[in-house]
Amino acid sequence: MRIARFIAIAVLLTGAFISSTASAANNTRATKALPSQADKSLLVLTERGGQHGGFTDAAMQWLTTFAAEKGYTLTEINDTKPINKEFLAQHKVFIQLDYVPYNWSEEAKIAFEQAIFDGTIGWVGFHHAALLGDFDGHAMWQWFADYMGGIRFKNYIPELASAEVVVERKNHPVMRGVSPSFTISNEEWYTFDRSPRGRVEVLASVDEQSYRPASDITMGDHPVVWHNPRVKARNVFFLMGHDAELIANKDFTTMFSNAIEWAAGPANWFPRFRVLIHHNRNVEEAHRQFAEDGIRFFSEMTIGDGLVVDVTDRIEDFNDEKLRTYHIVISLNDNPGHTAEQRAAFERYMEGGGAWLGFHAAGYNDSRTQWQWFVDFLGGAVFHRNNWPPQSAKLIVDDTSHPVTKGMPASYISPQNEWYQFKPSPRLRENVKVLVSLSEENYPIGFKDTVTDGDFPVVWSNTDYNMVYMNMGHGTRIFVDPTQNYLIYNALRWLMREQF
Ligand code: ZN
Repeated sequence: MRIARFIAIAVLLTGAFISSTASAANNTRATKALPSQADKSLLVLTERGGQHGGFTDAAMQWLTTFAAEKGYTLTEINDTKPINKEFLAQHKVFIQLDYVPYNWSEEAKIAFEQAIFDGTIGWVGFHHAALLGDFDGHAMWQWFADYMGGIRFKNYIPELASAEVVVERKNHPVMRGVSPSFTISNEEWYTFDRSPRGRVEVLASVDEQSYRPASDITMGDHPVVWHNPRVKARNVFFLMGHDAELIANKDFTTMFSNAIEWAAGPANWFPRFRVLIHHNRNVEEAHRQFAEDGIRFFSEMTIGDGLVVDVTDRIEDFNDEKLRTYHIVISLNDNPGHTAEQRAAFERYMEGGGAWLGFHAAGYNDSRTQWQWFVDFLGGAVFHRNNWPPQSAKLIVDDTSHPVTKGMPASYISPQNEWYQFKPSPRLRENVKVLVSLSEENYPIGFKDTVTDGDFPVVWSNTDYNMVYMNMGHGTRIFVDPTQNYLIYNALRWLMREQF
């Protein structure tokens, strides 16, 4: 599903590039490596020439010797045109020796993101790879900035400085045989708008007090070697990579060599999948309260790094580039798209095999919503009426054999909620599987606003998509009931079934 989604998006986004990438694919077919060869193949992306030319030349020479000694093959490319899914599959480690994170083709970006997430390739990057911002008329590649620890390039030391690098994680395989601290000469020492620490594992940092000559271009906490454990690919980034002298530094080449060997090892098992939670802060208080509880509930699932949960309150994140990097989107209290563009991006995400778990107000729609696709996605359900105030209700489990409701009692009393009745009932649609309904025994339900009759599904799935809608999601009591929590865990696990 996920692969199909990536291909579909790739074709969609790269229509203009198809002819050029097709010829690039033809060129690489001649050198296609067998699977066993791929295990020993290093792909090196370089610019050659320019101000890093000396470093690149020296590093390529060092890599040639390293590869010969360790039995690797080397493939050097000087732009990202050949990069696609098939091409990356022929290589074990992607060495971004001297190349910026912009001016990549859409197809190359998508293939790279997927390979890093899925761990089908290892990655060792240097210096220039952290040139994250708007450069040469290219907007920043947000995914890459996140991958690097949520940083944006700020400044550098143009006159260069020598400095002391301090190893923080002496036991990490990349630091095996490396001095506890060592001097790096003539480096540009990029600075960023913030330290990536907290979003990445820092292996070494630079002591800014040791700059010779001294410089006031500093960032305080200044990591210089790190890896991102939030993806399956083994990856290492080095901030160094400016000067040819680096290759004469034994500590640097030891780290370089260790990094390649480590990145060539088996991919991480975790995280299994990536969740994007969206919530809106400008909604009624009870829906904000639920979002707060929901964020805590799902974030607690990340203990042990089994999954990644990112939280956003920006509906602008509903765009192709952002959505394609998540296995599932959870909408806690708002529709998955406000503008036509955001809605179209969500539609493409779902049509391409994405997953969605929506709660309560996320499924609210009426005559003002003006989004027919979404109404159909919900099984034709349009908001009709609700009980008030919020209260507990007896819920009927419609099918205890479905993976989402397996093992549940035939009915349970839910914690208090404001229940939405939709009309027409989604049960009328052939492609809707109703999992839980409000029992007719509740009628009349409500004191101020009362619901007296009618079909009342509260949890269902549109079987044309990988989605579940749950009407729970109003107030502070939703997650207090183990039976209901069990239902929510099951729903998430079912939606993520292909990742287990
Ligand atoms: Zn509500």
